[in-house]
Amino acid sequence: SDEEAAARAAAVNADSGAPTIFDKIISKEIPSTIVYEDEAVLAFRDISPQAPVHVLVIPKLRDGLTDLGKAEKRHEDILGRLLYAAKIVAEKEGIIDGFRVVINSGPSACQSVYHLHLHVLGGRQMKWPPG
Ligand code: C5P
Repeated sequence: SDEEAAARAAAVNADSGAPTIFDKIISKEIPSTIVYEDEAVLAFRDISPQAPVHVLVIPKLRDGLTDLGKAEKRHEDILGRLLYAAKIVAEKEGIIDGFRVVINSGPSACQSVYHLHLHVLGGRQMKWPPG
């Protein structure tokens, strides 16, 4: 599929340390709709929402976290912060009673941006298993 091809192309540059589109969102060079922000985490609406609520939660500092598969012991604190921020987002968005958190890691999972991000999805009945 197109999605798979794009994900494979994105993965080629994943380890180069090259900035991603999310750096421009963090620096506000590219505007986004911010839902939650603190010193370590930014949460903003996905440009191509797959559910009535679709928010991305990212670390402001990538620090080697291109994808979850690159996580190291030293990332434990930020990983916990991201997950807790996902809960705050779900609460703020009114979907605390039912929401999904997704992390696509690597080309086989169709990751397309190599700056770790959690998808927070809700506002409709989610299906299982995912595609
Ligand atoms: O998990 P994956 O890497 O595929 O997710 C990347 C997400 O980033 C997509 O859901 C895409 O819609 C979103 N995106 C965005 N704004 C951009 C570029 C991508 O919200 N400018």
